[in-house]
Amino acid sequence: MNGVFMLPRPRGKLNGVKRLCKTRRTLDQTRREIAMAKRAPEPWYHPPQEEICALCGRAVPLVERDLHHLVPKSQGGKQTAVLHRICHRQLHALFSEKELAQHYSTVEELLAHEAVRSFVDWVRTKPDGFYQRTRRARAR
Ligand SMILES: [Zn+2]
Ligand SMILES: [Zn+2]
Repeated sequence: MNGVFMLPRPRGKLNGVKRLCKTRRTLDQTRREIAMAKRAPEPWYHPPQEEICALCGRAVPLVERDLHHLVPKSQGGKQTAVLHRICHRQLHALFSEKELAQHYSTVEELLAHEAVRSFVDWVRTKPDGFYQRTRRARAR
């Protein structure tokens, strides 16, 4: 009998135990959440998507990623296309901003140009990350 009466602990301590239980449940939840987060990426996390060069159609490595304004910014253009740096440089080596704005403001128009076509045919044989200094059209 004596043992039975000795079992209950003082109120304050009991509350303490309850609080501890609550904390432990929360910790378990947290651990479960961490485990979930490790398994599946956070909903806000978007892994970088592989982008395709609008000119040559090859994948664009991040370090070679350039944005080309189809109509040059200086001519009020807003629409951009992702290009390899080498493809981008080639376009600006071939055409002035005015020419780009007036005659080559779409990928189709660019690809219709013979020099662009032969550049694309050549660059397509190179690895995705290939880069070398652009040879100016006038130097040829
Ligand atoms: Zn550009
Ligand atoms: Zn390209």
